[in-house]
Formats: sequence, structure tokens, C-alpha cells
Amino acid sequence: MSQTLESNLAKVGTCLARFRGAALGHFINGEAVVGRSGETFENRAPTDGSLINEVLAGAPEDIDRAAHAAADAFAEWRVWPGGQRRRLLHRIADAIEARAEEIALVESWDTGQPMRFMSKAAVRGAENFRFFADRAPEAGNGLSLPAEHHLNYTLRQPIGPVGVITPWNTPFMLSTWKIAPALAAGCTVVHKPAEWSPLSAQLLVEICHEAGLPPGVLNTVQGVGEVAGRALTEQPSVKAVAFVGESATGSRIMAQGAATLKRVHFELGGKNPVIVFADADLERAVDAVAFMIYSLNGERCTSSSRLLVERSIHDAFVERVAARARRIRVGHPLDPATEVGPLIHPVHLRKVEGYFEVARSEGATVAAGGGRPGGFENGNFIQPTLFTGATGDMRIAQEEIFGPVLTAIPFDDEAEALSIANAVDYGLAAYAWTRDLGRAQRLGRDLEAGMVWINSENNRHLPTPFGGMKASGIGRDGGDYSFDFYMETKNVCMAYDTHSVPGLGR
Ligand code: NAD
Repeated sequence: MSQTLESNLAKVGTCLARFRGAALGHFINGEAVVGRSGETFENRAPTDGSLINEVLAGAPEDIDRAAHAAADAFAEWRVWPGGQRRRLLHRIADAIEARAEEIALVESWDTGQPMRFMSKAAVRGAENFRFFADRAPEAGNGLSLPAEHHLNYTLRQPIGPVGVITPWNTPFMLSTWKIAPALAAGCTVVHKPAEWSPLSAQLLVEICHEAGLPPGVLNTVQGVGEVAGRALTEQPSVKAVAFVGESATGSRIMAQGAATLKRVHFELGGKNPVIVFADADLERAVDAVAFMIYSLNGERCTSSSRLLVERSIHDAFVERVAARARRIRVGHPLDPATEVGPLIHPVHLRKVEGYFEVARSEGATVAAGGGRPGGFENGNFIQPTLFTGATGDMRIAQEEIFGPVLTAIPFDDEAEALSIANAVDYGLAAYAWTRDLGRAQRLGRDLEAGMVWINSENNRHLPTPFGGMKASGIGRDGGDYSFDFYMETKNVCMAYDTHSVPGLGR
């Protein structure tokens, strides 16, 4: 991949040329379709606010059409032999790898995420397909549960057409994380990407069809959440909804899906603590702390946005993090040297900036950042920021900011650290740094989070469960956990003909 901003700009111009002109439409039943409503919305570049393209706003009729295509395709797709599904999903992974640079460039321009991370996100998307491809032949496996007079055995069968609704942060990777297991399980899919990042979903659906995915197995409908997203959650043919996004949207989707008894899987927001004890390897801890809040523009559900530091090392440690924040290279997302790019949208920029004022009014100190960087008048750029002198009950310590903004809080002992860490509505991820094995075990047990990393930044191993407690989600992804969501477990109970059958009216 090229190493200069200039060459990346030239390349992205070529990649984007196809999106200029007619509005980007939907992809239903194996073909590009123009929507029923004719309404469009604008998609603008986070870097300079320039218009990238117009996008068709899907209407409920478009969702119906996609859901019917998915329902028709399900009859055949569900009985495809697992080995055949495995080969096809590997072909999709091959095609993603072959177009990884294009995907990374388009995603970076569309979302403002730096190329240094997006090039890996495209490759990670291919890995998701390979991982679930290899499990496709075993997805239907169940258990044998023998009893005295009966043999019970379980089967797993795909639940049916499913809806996948994704957010705008790393949209390509997140879409593959949902869509690959659904396809491996034998489900068909209607995907509604986020309206602030519509482009890479189009690349994904094209890639899948070029690799040989039958028409109707994956359908993409562009549109806004309250219309197209809502219609998808209410569509009777859609049996389950896998949703990644804000906690408040998750609540709405649960209510919207109630009438049709939708199974839901939610990956929602977080306000994740990283706890640093005085006995930790502080060199490694400072790297991990800076990485987990300032990578991916801080627009990352598992970002460690609360830094809890033992009081005896607090001032020195926090100053080291502040120095890192000041040195982070903010810049054009297509510049390979850039570490933090512009936020996704001016609306989101205003939300994140609003917390600078909240911090000051709550009495916290802005130890680094706290404003817009010079030289970037047009885009949604923001300085990597660190708040110190905070307490656990402040809004900056309770609410998900979803930007490169970290809130540091001192603590005196393990009990206080745990109490501050758990005193939020969210429970997605938690990180702890200590060399005390007993303490590490206790924290692993007692932190209220779906995922706990000890002496590590977020490090994913695809068979492990991914998901949150409390307001951070319902359900788990990863490995076999994904199949539990996309499949029904059926029990078959067969008698050995040795038990006495109760008789009435003999
Ligand atoms: P969002 O909830 O605003 O939107 C997510 C998606 O939902 C979009 O496609 C949107 O169009 C759609 N939507 C909105 N209203 C809807 C409705 N009423 N019915 C159906 N669909 C609707 O979230 P966002 O701002 O795009 O993404 C950021 C959020 O996502 C953050 O809170 C972040 O923590 C969360 N997130 C969580 C994880 C995780 O794994 N837990 C991963 C990534 C992002």
C-alpha cells in the first residue's frame, strides 16, 4: 500500500469516481435497484465537508422487497451443504483481500478513520469470513442427551432471514462480523448500513455476489434509521435483528420488534474503565491507555474512556498520558502518518466538543487538548483530550463521549477502584493493569463487564465471546456464540420403546 498522502488521494479519487453521478441505491435480490421513495440524502467527507455522493433513502417498501427476496432465497440457502458454504465464504474472503486497499481508502474517506487502522480493518473483515467459513459445516451440530428410556438429541437450524443494522464506526469490519456468521449459519440477510457511512456496505454486497453468493441471500438497503431501520425491525418475515449502535437505539429497536416477537442481539455503548495499579508495568500500561482511547479517533465501543489510577502514581502516570495526547499526530485520514483523523460528522463533533464545556463546568481540569487543532478549519477535527481531577459521578465519567477524550480519576485501593469502575450504566469492556495475580483474578471476577482484559489492550481472539452487560448489550458474538443467535436449537426426543406410556380411557 502506498505510503504518501498524495498517492492515497489520487487513488481514492479513482475509487470514489463510481459513486459520483446517480445516487447510491440498494442491492436487492442480486441486483442494484433504485428505491421506491426517490428521496435522497447527502453523504459528506469528514475531512473537508465536501459532498461525496447522494444516497437513496430506503422506504419501508424497499425493506419489504429486500425481506421478501431474503425469505425466498432462504429456502435454498438453508440447505446448501456446509462444505459448499465454506468454499463460497472463503472465496468472499479472497475477494475482500484482493480489494483491501480500495475498501480501506473508501472507508477512510467516508468515515475519517486513519488509513493506518482502516487497512487492518479490511483484512480483519476477510478474517471474519474465513473464521466462520471454517465453522459452517459444523454449525448444525448439537448434543446427545440420553435419558433412561429416551434418547434426546439437539439440532441447530438457521432461524430464517435476519436484519443486520450497523453503525458508522469501522462499518466494513463490523458488518462482516455480523454478516459472515449469519451466512455461515444458513440465514439470509437484509443489511441496513449507517447513513453517515454508506459506501463500504455497497462494496461488501458487490464482492459477495461477484464471489458467487446466490441472489437474495444478502440484500443491502440504504437509508435512515427511523425509516428504513425501523421498517426492518418491524418486518414480519425478518426473524431476528442483530444491531450494533447506541443503547438508546437498542431500546427503541426492542420496542419496535415487540409486535413481531423479534429475537434481538445488541452490541451497544460503553464507558469502559482502565484501572492502573502502582505495581503494574507502567511502560506497557501507558502505551495501552493511550492506544485504547486515541486509536480509531476514540470512536470505538471498547475504548477505555475512564482512566482510574492508584493515587500514589496518579500525577506522574497521568502526566505521561497527557504528554502522549499532546504528541499524537492529528491529520488527514489518508496520510499514513496520521494517528487521529476527523470525527465522522459535524453533529457528532458538536456532541464531543460539548463535553469540553461540561468538563470545565463540572470542575475538572483539561490537562491536554480540549479544542480544535489549528490548520483544519473545514473538517471535523478535534484534539486528543485528557480530563483530570474528575470524580466518578461527573457526566464526563458517566456518559459515552465516543471521541478521543479520556477522563482520569484517582483511587486509593482496590475496593474503591472496583466501586468506581462498576458505578456506570454500561458494562461492555474493562481493563486492569497489575502484577498481583490474586488481585487480577478478583477483578476478572468482580468487574461488571462482558469482557475483561488484564495487562492488555483490546486483543481479539475470534472464538471468544464478545458483548456487553447492563446497558452495553444483550447476547454474545464470536465462535459458537454467534451461531446460538442465528440458529434455533431444536430437541428431538426418541423413545427406546421401554417406558410405559400413560393411558387414559383404556
Ligand atoms: P446509532 O444507534 O445512532 O445508529 C446505529 C444504526 O442504527 C444506524 O444504522 C442507524 O441508522 C440505525 N437506527 C437508528 N435509529 C433506528 C431505529 N429507530 N430503528 C432501527 N434502526 C435505527 O449508533 P451510531 O451513532 O451509528 O454508532 C455509535 C454507537 O455504536 C456508540 O454508542 C457505540 O458504542 C456503539 N457501538 C457498539 C459496539 C459494540 O460492539 N458494543 C460496536 C460499535 C459501536
